[in-house]
Amino acid sequence: MAGEKGRNDVYLTVSRDGKRVSNFRLREFENAAGLAMVHRSTLESLERVREDLGKHYGETVLVILTDAVRTREDLQRIAKKYGWVEDGGAVARNSRHLAEYGGIAVDLVARVERTGARVPQTVLGSICRRHFDFVKDDYADGHVHADNRNEKN
Ligand SMILES: [Zn+2]
Repeated sequence: MAGEKGRNDVYLTVSRDGKRVSNFRLREFENAAGLAMVHRSTLESLERVREDLGKHYGETVLVILTDAVRTREDLQRIAKKYGWVEDGGAVARNSRHLAEYGGIAVDLVARVERTGARVPQTVLGSICRRHFDFVKDDYADGHVHADNRNEKN
């Protein structure tokens, strides 16, 4: 598809203790159609999680986003696969991934860059709890959900 290679291929920057940090690209926050949205607080939290993981392992750890912003259509499609919460599934109708919340939610996994070893879900979850308002880390596929649901700006 024309333009897809460069689409959202830009680094996002936040200030951290007077330093600029840029470890995430906008395209990592894309939905299936290539639309992207991310709240500033989400990016700040992700950079902190990445930094803490690096300290924890003593080497670079990559934070990999598996899902970020969703439209209502995205949510319907995901619910067809995983079911709605009220039916015993995993998808909330008021999912914080929805665009109306402003890009406050991400799903993520992490890997040690050098070895490719996956960071255990519980380790990633506990580090995410330091920097996000809400974290869920009991999904069967091993990903962690994190969002800044108390963020009002
Ligand atoms: Zn999620």
